[in-house]
Formats: sequence, C-alpha cells, structure tokens
Amino acid sequence: MAEETIFTKIINGDIPSEIIYHDDLVTAFKDIAPKTDHHILIVTNKPIPTVSDVEAEDEQMLGRLFIIAKKIATDLGVDKSGYRLIVNCGPDGGQEVPHIHMHLLAGGKLGGLGFPQK
Ligand code: 5GP
Repeated sequence: MAEETIFTKIINGDIPSEIIYHDDLVTAFKDIAPKTDHHILIVTNKPIPTVSDVEAEDEQMLGRLFIIAKKIATDLGVDKSGYRLIVNCGPDGGQEVPHIHMHLLAGGKLGGLGFPQK
C-alpha cells in the first residue's frame, strides 16, 4: 500500500475540508484553491500515487471516479452546459499531490485545454 497523503488525511477526517461525497471507493471535496466557480476533487480512497501506478484490480474504483463526476455535475446543474475533468500525472503533468484524483471544473466557458485562469 502506498504512503498516506494529505488526501488520505482529508478522507479520514483528520484535516478539515468540505467533503461533498463519500463512499467505499472514492471521496469528493472542494479544492482549497479553486480555479473556477466550481472546483471539486474526486479522489480514490486507496492512495495510488499516479495513473502510472494503476493495476487491473483498480478498474472499478477508477470507473467510480467518472460515475461520481457525472453525479456531481448533475447536482451542480452543469451536466448539460458542460464542465472539464482533468487528471494530472507526474511532475511534467503538473501533479502536486501523489494520490490519484480527478479535478471537476465548472462555471462558465472554460476556454482551451489546461486549468483556466480565474
Ligand atoms: P494536482 O496538481 O496534484 O493535480 O492537484 C492537487 C490539488 O489539490 C490542487 O488543485 C490543490 O489546490 C489541491 N489541494 C492541495 N492541498 C489541499 C488541501 O489540503 N485541501 C484541499 N481541499 N485541496 C488541496
């Protein structure tokens, strides 16, 4: 099992965050430094460092990220207007926290690829 991360502490409630969803496989909470009006992180409960570390046995958990992204987008009312999902991988991919997570960004036109400048 990979080392505990700051996201593990959030999932376990050891450090505060605005958790908006939690189940046996994934947890979603608001990003501490939002890049858009809605910036949610959907995180695997299991602390896999990066996409390069995933195994076949993780398939259901990784699929859950998309299922919950859709649920949150629907709850936010942006499922039809649109949103962006980003998974950064490794240093050159801009990943800061070594614990797999999907960014859900929404709130108006997001422009070209990458994080929009708020
Ligand atoms: P990455 O660059 O790894 O893809 O994204 C990491 C994200 O985690 C960043 O958008 C950053 O703002 C967010 N983040 C880092 N530390 C915390 C924290 O303690 N709480 C919350 N809610 N978000 C965090």
